[in-house]
Amino acid sequence: MADKRAKRIAKFIKPLRVKPGTSVDLRDFDPRYKAGMKKRDGVGLLETGVSLLAEYQARLAAQDTHGVLFCLQALDAGGKDGTIRHVMSGVNPQGVRVSSFKVPSAEELDHDYLWRYARRLPARGEIAIFNRSHYEEVLVVRVHPELLERQRLPESALGAGVWARRYREINNWERHLTDNGFTVVKIFLNLSKEEQRTRFLKRIDLPEKNWKFSAADVRERRYWDDYQGAFSEMLSATSTPWAPWYVVPADRKWFARICAAAVLAHALIKIDPRYPVVGEEVHRELMAARLDLEAEAPEGEPADPYAARHRT
Ligand code: AMP
Ligand code: MG
Repeated sequence: MADKRAKRIAKFIKPLRVKPGTSVDLRDFDPRYKAGMKKRDGVGLLETGVSLLAEYQARLAAQDTHGVLFCLQALDAGGKDGTIRHVMSGVNPQGVRVSSFKVPSAEELDHDYLWRYARRLPARGEIAIFNRSHYEEVLVVRVHPELLERQRLPESALGAGVWARRYREINNWERHLTDNGFTVVKIFLNLSKEEQRTRFLKRIDLPEKNWKFSAADVRERRYWDDYQGAFSEMLSATSTPWAPWYVVPADRKWFARICAAAVLAHALIKIDPRYPVVGEEVHRELMAARLDLEAEAPEGEPADPYAARHRT
């Protein structure tokens, strides 16, 4: 049964995976793709995914040997916040840590570019979510070269090879993490330019969405083609066997959320965390404690009311 679920999920997400070593052109990915699914059917599927995540997260926390880093990248209005809200709605908040990365602070700029992300990595047993991630360092920083200048790098760290070097460093960093028990899961919410326009208009027209919009978002939209190029190159260079990218069609929010849940569930299923089974000695201690507790039972009461309740 569990195996059947796992197989279905693996099959579902396969078309979204960027095959390591291939050259990606984002124009080949359709933001409106929905695997022939109807929104109506999607509701139940997301619920299944959410409860599966809850189950696996509890096991991940109990086992306490592996951690998961879930990175979300997208352009403005791509749906990162909503995806996090929906996909993680069933999991125990104690086991999840969400970090959003904005324009770096002076302190952050005073360190190497991976520093601020490293500080937010998951502990064993945890899922850490990166709302934007270290990939901004080869996206927004690439599209706006003045941001690279602000990083005050020495001459030797700049030059034409800077992006290829960053790809390599990021790949190595993720390799180091996976080798040490931390699975790195990466999704890119792939939004069309037209759908971004629609969502911006909604943010302008609906008062409760106004806070989400800034004039800078429209300025950033002018760099659309540059971003598409930067994303394409980044996906080609950093989809690795140990940490592949998934391109999630994002024009339909409901479908994007199912995909995100499925990709994360797939990673957890692969880890296959188990509740620890206690050793013989601890088991003997448990049995001894049980006898003591039973002996304390008030007169006329069952020695074990819990068992009595559950026997019926
Ligand atoms: P939002 O996610 O809408 O709150 O916006 C966060 C802003 O921070 C976006 O405009 C990002 O482009 C920007 N940002 C995130 N990471 C970096 C970075 N490493 N360098 C410069 N800007 C960044
Ligand atoms: Mg924004």
